[in-house]
Amino acid sequence: MKRILITGGAGFIGSHLCKKLLEQGNDILCLDNYFTGSKDNIKDLMGNPHFECVRHDIINPYLAEVDEIYNLACPASPIHYQYNPIKTLQTSVIGVSNMLNLAKYRNCKILHASTSEVYGDPVTHPQNESYWGNVNPIGIRSCYDEGKRCAETLMMDYHRQENIKIKIVRIFNTYGPNMSVNDGRVVSNFIVQALKNEDITIYGDGNQTRSFQYIDDLIDGLIKMMATDDSFTGPVNIGNPREFTIKQLAEMIIELTGSKSKLVYRPLPGDDPRQRKPDISLARKILDWSPKVDAEDGLKNTIEYFRSLNL
Ligand code: NAD
Ligand code: UDP
Repeated sequence: MKRILITGGAGFIGSHLCKKLLEQGNDILCLDNYFTGSKDNIKDLMGNPHFECVRHDIINPYLAEVDEIYNLACPASPIHYQYNPIKTLQTSVIGVSNMLNLAKYRNCKILHASTSEVYGDPVTHPQNESYWGNVNPIGIRSCYDEGKRCAETLMMDYHRQENIKIKIVRIFNTYGPNMSVNDGRVVSNFIVQALKNEDITIYGDGNQTRSFQYIDDLIDGLIKMMATDDSFTGPVNIGNPREFTIKQLAEMIIELTGSKSKLVYRPLPGDDPRQRKPDISLARKILDWSPKVDAEDGLKNTIEYFRSLNL
């Protein structure tokens, strides 16, 4: 039995990871400041003697006798990470340093949840890991994008300077149950709007693209990455290469929900990337990983989840 620390464990991705690693027979310590996460996401795990959750903000140091660390703590939705951009940066810089110091103290592996946002508004398509990105350092998304880029730098420097065993995963847009109703990201927004027969808000002309992966595929990829040989640090892309325009996504959700919603167009937020699609050759090769869940099935499961909340 491994003692695994998951920061951001009460969030969307973290709650699924806690559940899966618990099912696999591990002892889980979840840290969360509940900024965007919720105890509801982990309520089913609370009674399990091998699960504990501590209210803690990772910008403060934390020490515990753990064998592995998954660092997921950070708001991920633009409306949430832009709410307090200074705090977002601190979480990615001071928080990640704190977790790396814990990994050093424990001499244990640390996996960091990085993001496709490190590619910014990419001029290379699809994006592979050797692309350095096209990021505005002073825009409204910079607190997140540059914070995540700096976190990758910290990971690599702790690896080179302190021999810490690190794993960097660049996660592409992920959706599924346990996304918060007011998360603000496109899949949850569209599903909630469709289920309420409200207007579906497309930002810009809806021709920008994203590639959406279902949560189960991501969890599988994260666990496979953690299990790789110490010599493999990443970064590695984990995402589903099927690319959609935002308008196509809206139409698909209307069809799957049987909604009467209409599409309405709103201004595009600043620095919104025009296209995004992962090249997952490296994940296929090193992790023997590729996504298994079709968009239709993943969206149906997610729609069922939101339906069950009786919006
Ligand atoms: P989320 O907002 O649902 O979860 C983030 C969790 O971290 C929440 O529980 C929040 O309360 C917690 N948190 C935030 N700041 C914290 C702090 N300073 N100290 C302790 N806890 C803190 O988001 P998510 O979608 O589950 O994302 C998890 C991680 O994956 C994030 O690091 C995010 O950047 C990364 N990621 C997610 C996606 C995606 O599509 N979901 C894509 C790329 C990267
Ligand atoms: N988006 C949209 N309507 C919404 C929410 C988002 O059209 O209600 C767009 C957003 O402008 C972006 C895409 O959907 O082009 C994905 O947005 P999200 O916030 O989910 O993720 P990110 O931009 O970080 O990839």
